[in-house]
This record gives sequence, C-alpha cells and structure tokens, in this order.
Amino acid sequence: MPRQCDICHDARAIVRRPKTAQSICKECFFHVFETEVHNTIVSSRLFQRGDRVGIGASGGKDSTVLAYVMKTLNERYNYGLDLYLLSVDEGIAGYRDDSLETVKRNKEQYELPLLIVSYEQLYGWSMDSIVQAVGRKNNCTFCGVFRRQALDRGALMLDLDHIVTGHNADDVAETILMNIFRGDISRLGRCTEIATTGDGYVVRSKPFKYAYEKEIVMYAYLRRLDYFSTECTYSPNAYRGYAREFLKSLERVRPSAILDIIHSGEAMHVAADVQLPTLDRCERCGYISSNKVCKACVLLEGLERGIPKLGVSRTNAKHIEDPTANRAVDLVHFETLRRDALELRRIRMENKQTTQPEPDASCQRSACSCACDNAADCS
Ligand SMILES: [Zn+2]
Ligand SMILES: [Zn+2]
Repeated sequence: MPRQCDICHDARAIVRRPKTAQSICKECFFHVFETEVHNTIVSSRLFQRGDRVGIGASGGKDSTVLAYVMKTLNERYNYGLDLYLLSVDEGIAGYRDDSLETVKRNKEQYELPLLIVSYEQLYGWSMDSIVQAVGRKNNCTFCGVFRRQALDRGALMLDLDHIVTGHNADDVAETILMNIFRGDISRLGRCTEIATTGDGYVVRSKPFKYAYEKEIVMYAYLRRLDYFSTECTYSPNAYRGYAREFLKSLERVRPSAILDIIHSGEAMHVAADVQLPTLDRCERCGYISSNKVCKACVLLEGLERGIPKLGVSRTNAKHIEDPTANRAVDLVHFETLRRDALELRRIRMENKQTTQPEPDASCQRSACSCACDNAADCS
C-alpha cells in the first residue's frame, strides 16, 4: 500500500526529506521548504519594505530556485520588495554563455528585470583570456575575487539595497570546515553570518543558509524549474572539493551533520585578543580591502604586466608598481559608482512623488495600492 504523507495524512508520500527523514507529498514539501525560507527571512529581519533586492543569478539550480522562491514569497507575504536578477558573465565559452541563456529565460518566466555585468567590460579580461595567460592552476582565485567585486559593481549600477545569493546549508558548512582547517579566524567569524555588509554599501545575504542542497535539487526537479546543470569547465577549487567530500561522508552517517556544523560555527566567537585585519578602502578603486591596494587590483596588475603570480601568493602583493601602467580598461572607482547610484535614487524619488496616487485615509485593504501608510497593518 502506498505510504501516506506524514504531514497532511491525506496525499501519497513521494519524497523523503533529507533534512528530517519525513515521508511527505509534493504539495507539503513545497509548503515546508518555502515556509522554512520565509521563517529564515523573517527571523533574521533580512529585508525592509521597499528594498531593492538583486538575486545573484547564475542559471544554476541554487540561484534559479532562489529567484523562484523569492518571487513567490514576496507575493505571498507581501514583503514589498523590488526584485532584480543580477548576473556575472565571467567569459567562459561553452559554460557561462550557455548558463546565461537560462537566466535570460528565467527573466521572462519570472518577469524580473535582468542586468548582466561581464569581466570583459569591467576588467578588460574574460576568464578564457585569463586562463590563457595564467594556466589552469590558480584561475579560481582570479574568478572568485573578480566575481565578488563584479556583483557589488552591478548592485551599485542598479542602486540595490541588498543582494541575495543561492548559497545553501551545504556551502556554509563546507566553508566553516575549510576555515577551521586553514585556521582562518577572521573568515570563520564572517562565514556563519546570514547577512554581511562587506563593501559597506550593499547588504549581502543567504536566505538558503539552512536549506539542504539535496532539497533544493528536489524542489527544482518537482517544480520543473528551468536551470543549467553543467559544472564549470575550468579546474574546480580543489580544497573546497575535499571539504565537500568530507561533509558528504559525514552526512551519509548523520544527516543532521550539516546543520550541526552550522550551529557549531554560529556558537564560536573570536577571542578578544585575536587580531583581525582592519578594513580600509583600496587606494586605486575604492573597494573595501585590508591592504592599501585590493586583491582585484593586484591581480589585474599582475595580468597586465605579464606576471600573473602577483597577488596569488601573499608576499608578492607588496611589489606592485605604477597603478596606471598598461591598463586595458580603466576600473571605475567605487565612489563614482556610489555617486551615480545616489543620483539614480534621487531621480527615482522625484518621479515617485509626482506619479504616486493620493493616500486614501479610509483604505481598509491589506494589499492596497492607494499608498496609505497603514497598508501593512490594515485588514
Ligand atoms: Zn502532504
Ligand atoms: Zn582596488
């Protein structure tokens, strides 16, 4: 006899939840998955009404599910967010160009505006040309550093308040393990936080911090979401690969290991006498940095002077020379981006004031469009 759903006791169970080992039906799975993400968002107070939120979208399963769930929850619970898709084109032929096609379809499917920023346009180097110059050994270093800045640059171009990324519980647990194994105390402190303000401009958060990767895959499959599932064609981050394998073997004998590691990470506190790097602004591009010149600028200079090892190992970072020499592309300074974003905001506010309907003091509707201030609490 087919097993009944452990939650509704009505429909036939078709999935066994990796997180709780319950056997449940499809509708109950959608409901618990979405509700858990909603609870994470509410209990961590991630957003404020009116926030402009960019979804870091790669076309992969995590960010595609994130875009779908963010749109669903924003409508269901009336968060009042303006959602955008923000994608980074690293310039990897046969991988990123194909996955960006998926994002472009998601844009239509979810009716969300999309901005794509590319390494080529921002830095003058695509990942394909970087790999030609540096080989396959350290290319993940370049890609990671450039991607982080690219997202922040895109966020300012859209004047976003907030970027959400598809990092899931498995990713967070992996990162905690990696930072413990490497003794990287400052990163260990930061990686357990659900939201950070790394660059001081735009908040970045992980609404899937407690969502298991297996459940995200299940959700994408059962909802028949359109996503891209090929791995990056360049060599993967080997160290993360080991941490991932280790975590997977732990999960096999103890499925709660993922959440247990996150909870342990959250409970750890950096001792007061541990010296953490002080953060300042890069003197070239204005990005947040613990050195005078940020990692992206050092890597770029290495590329352009034909010494790509510059910046890959820590000690070399001191030997950089003339900042303006042989620049393929002038990096736009973050202060310029910031100023443009403020200007955009000012124009938007002006337009809003002239086009907004008159508030109606007698309005009683919860999802009202009359611009009355009590929209959230009137029923
Ligand atoms: Zn059910
Ligand atoms: Zn810089």
